[in-house]
Amino acid sequence: MTSREWPANLQVADDFRPHAFREFVLKIHQRCNLACDYCYVYTMGDDTWRDRPTRMSVDVVRTAAARIAEHADAHDLRSVRVVLHGGEPLLAGRDRLVEIIATLKRTIGRELRLAVQTNGVLLDEAMLDLFRAEGVEVGISLDGTGADNDRHRRYADGRGSAVAVERALGLLAAERYRAVFAGILCTVDIAADPLETYETLLRYRPKLIDFLLPHANWARPPVRPAEAGETAYGDWLVSIFDRWYDAPRIDTRVRILEEIISLVLGGASRSEQIGLSPVTVAVIESDGDIEQVDSLKSAYPGACATGLNVATDSFDRALRHPGIVARQLGAAALGPDCVSCPIHQWCGAGHYAHRYRPGSGFRNRSVYCADLARIITHVRRRVAADLVDQTGRRGE
Ligand code: SF4
Repeated sequence: MTSREWPANLQVADDFRPHAFREFVLKIHQRCNLACDYCYVYTMGDDTWRDRPTRMSVDVVRTAAARIAEHADAHDLRSVRVVLHGGEPLLAGRDRLVEIIATLKRTIGRELRLAVQTNGVLLDEAMLDLFRAEGVEVGISLDGTGADNDRHRRYADGRGSAVAVERALGLLAAERYRAVFAGILCTVDIAADPLETYETLLRYRPKLIDFLLPHANWARPPVRPAEAGETAYGDWLVSIFDRWYDAPRIDTRVRILEEIISLVLGGASRSEQIGLSPVTVAVIESDGDIEQVDSLKSAYPGACATGLNVATDSFDRALRHPGIVARQLGAAALGPDCVSCPIHQWCGAGHYAHRYRPGSGFRNRSVYCADLARIITHVRRRVAADLVDQTGRRGE
């Protein structure tokens, strides 16, 4: 990306004040033991991971933690969230994880919500006992049934990962570890049956399911077979919405659907997939580089770089980076199509990475525009119908 494509033409109001980072993603291990075909880190043209240390050193962890504490002090944050991420974070090994967790707790020294996002392949009782003892929540990635998962989430030699991940999910679903089971991330595959996918994930009784649209942009559009129709991704989510809305599960939340309901009822979104809420996540790479959310790597190599490093720069400096400012501006950062769109205050042009088009950067509508409109208008219609129904009944 050239500097031309940065949002230099953004109108930043005089009274704009950056929103402090509240979540910090630590890339503690750069490599992965899987080779998922849609992975934005390893399959979408970004090679920056090759030049970074394989494992984050304890020195970098300590420096990053000190910067997080500095940022929390400067913005009077009562609590912060730190997510251990990769590559695959469990490749760091149990001993290094013990060291990392201790360093973070000692250095950050306030209410610290710790989480690890893993593919689950290496998750065993020893790891889980550590996370249970230290209060580290565990998020797992699984794309539905074993067959659906294994179409995409495979080892480099082509073997599927489902058996190993299902074993890990079986452990997490057991009473001993349920308290640390945060939820399941599932990437939408329109070739999979949506209800079968949803029911499969529910079996593990996660607290949260989040369905993610596969990373794509105008240069690399999503897989969309002609027979699937123009709103295949939206239709897929609508099927799950109807099942979930008609038979709500009090023990399992579905984030993207809850966020859309919140938005159409006038609330805010806490998901970067939808809405206009400011993004308050910073990523720290294994060499200490401060980056924007790394899903931007799906747009072009180096898209999330800021040129800053925890060794020399505060997170407050990162808050002034144009790419981060653009993601905190809300409607002021939208492209012309979205500004004139009647549902833009709910849609927010979707995920920032999905707006990218070479030459015009990120001020475009989402490559999932039609799908977002389909699911948002469907949710709005159903919620509005319920409200009318309840109001009518109250008036009877
Ligand atoms: S991405 Fe499409 S639906 Fe969303 S705000 Fe933009 S134009 Fe509207």
